Amino acid sequence: MPTTPTDAHIAKVLERIGEVALALRRGTGMAQDLSALQLRVLGFVADRGTEPVGVALLADALQISRPTASDSVRVLVERGFLLRRPDPADGRSHALRLTAIGRKAAAHARATPLRDALGLLPQADKEGTLIALMRVLEALVHSGDLRVQRLCFTCKHYQGDKRSKHRCLLMRADMTVAELRTDCPDHAAVADHPPRR
Ligand code: SF4
Repeated sequence: MPTTPTDAHIAKVLERIGEVALALRRGTGMAQDLSALQLRVLGFVADRGTEPVGVALLADALQISRPTASDSVRVLVERGFLLRRPDPADGRSHALRLTAIGRKAAAHARATPLRDALGLLPQADKEGTLIALMRVLEALVHSGDLRVQRLCFTCKHYQGDKRSKHRCLLMRADMTVAELRTDCPDHAAVADHPPRR
């Protein structure tokens, strides 16, 4: 499908927001003597909760090389933000856990002016934005440009119109827009888009 000037305009706005998010993360990180990437690592481990996170998954999810992910993890372990434990599901691998200061740093990084700005939008605009952005992520999965994804729109348990009707067949429940997931542990990729993890 040919792209339009509107597509280019939206892409530019998204890039701009991405730059702002990165600059904000750098600023937050500097206050704690952490790099933007190290904060992103802490945020990712925090988002996964009790799910084991290893270096390989981190590298894939953040779309960085394994040596880069490994280096960030090493520094965060040395500085006491992360703990590295044997993965109970795979004795040859390690799983990362946040320490108390790691949790604090991850939480601090989330309280950004970007969130405050989104908070100013009417609820209908927030929901429309979330749906549109999830569809952009879905398209990036289909094109192979997004390596790790666990969003409802690419899940075989999803049933709905990707607009206003959403149901999870696994949970046997209708979902509101706010309940749609972008990193669901129960995600099962549809056959033509298997997970890359
Ligand atoms: S299993 Fe998770 S990702 Fe799949 S439809 Fe249900 S909530 Fe969404």
